[in-house]
Amino acid sequence: MIKSKADIMVFENAQKQLEKAKKHVKLAQETEETLKYPTETFSFSIPVRMDDGTLKVFEGHRVRYNDARGPTKGGIRYHPGVTIDEVKALSFWMVIKCAVINIPYGGGKGGITVDPQKLSKGELERLSRGWMRKAYRIVGPDRDIPAPDVYTTGQIMAWMMDEYSIITGTYSPAVITGKPLSLGGSLGREYATALGGYYCIKEAAGKVNPGKTVAIQGFGNAGSHMVRLLAADGYKIIAVSDSKGGAHLEAGFEYEKLISVKKREKHVDAYPGCNKITQEQLLELDCDILILAALENQVTKDNAARVKAKMIVELANGPTTPEADDILYQKGIFLVPDILANSGGVCVSYFEWVQNKQGYYWKEDDVNAKLHEKMVEEFNATFDIHKNRKIDMRTAAYVLALGRIDEATKAKALY
Ligand code: GLU
Repeated sequence: MIKSKADIMVFENAQKQLEKAKKHVKLAQETEETLKYPTETFSFSIPVRMDDGTLKVFEGHRVRYNDARGPTKGGIRYHPGVTIDEVKALSFWMVIKCAVINIPYGGGKGGITVDPQKLSKGELERLSRGWMRKAYRIVGPDRDIPAPDVYTTGQIMAWMMDEYSIITGTYSPAVITGKPLSLGGSLGREYATALGGYYCIKEAAGKVNPGKTVAIQGFGNAGSHMVRLLAADGYKIIAVSDSKGGAHLEAGFEYEKLISVKKREKHVDAYPGCNKITQEQLLELDCDILILAALENQVTKDNAARVKAKMIVELANGPTTPEADDILYQKGIFLVPDILANSGGVCVSYFEWVQNKQGYYWKEDDVNAKLHEKMVEEFNATFDIHKNRKIDMRTAAYVLALGRIDEATKAKALY
């Protein structure tokens, strides 16, 4: 399992990013003050009857960080490394992300401290329904709308939606997004995070022209779909990794073969003819585009100077620390930050929610066309701020988002 460096506090990093951006945007005092604290933080125990008859208690969380622009929105993560500090940081990033991509939401996040790979399907269902049995008090279709994140799936969203519907006695597909199509999911949601990142790469290509060799850290939902999209477009995928290790092949990986190796052997480094490498080595490979699609704190002050890629795309949340950001910027590496690069996921979640509320479902091409329009618009808005103010792309995306959050906060004119 890829580890986020546990000694690095992610919420502190998120606050450092905010402080840096605040130098470039004038915020109302109300906005500054409200962005310092989550609006609601909820931690709870989830008792689960295990298959062997014992009772096990898991720790669950949901944080609603800020709802100035609308109901809070954000995924639920299942991982042994989940902490309340991490959930708080991730919920803060959702506030910024929803404002960058300009959808009418605030930000939230949830999680369970668990290794889901160690649970049976029945245990996973009882755990997921158990999360909702506690969290129903804080979530709701017009209040707080969860979605998938690391190691959570459409099936898990289905159980949670069903549990919420049972508790409230109303069929409530709009309470959660990333659902299976049969329960009100949206066409295109499954691969939306990768597609949004891919649209960023295409927009960036015309501006910074990085080249076409790619290394990808992470082969979960976002990483694997990104390999598919890029390989189909003539990019050469020279390295991939998953939680068990990395694989390097100068000739390039074939997507279909990679998927079948992963399915059969469970790890990508079983790909015939590749060299086994570590996660760390992958980050430092000679390539044009480095895609970070695993967890937080992967590029840090300790390895940033050794990154050779010309462009970095963050499909994971928080994979680069603030110290690393400065080093990469000085090296002239063009970085598309998480709050923009992976916002396609939450953007199509928004489309799913709209469809649920209308009870009217769109064609896949329409979903993707609307996503494309959003990504191009906000990529270019961010890029213009980056160019005009001579600041890195992350800070530029913060400037764009903070302006929008500030406007909403001021319009409410709190008390
Ligand atoms: N977990 C995803 C993210 O970090 C998606 C959130 C959502 O769709 O609400 O952006």
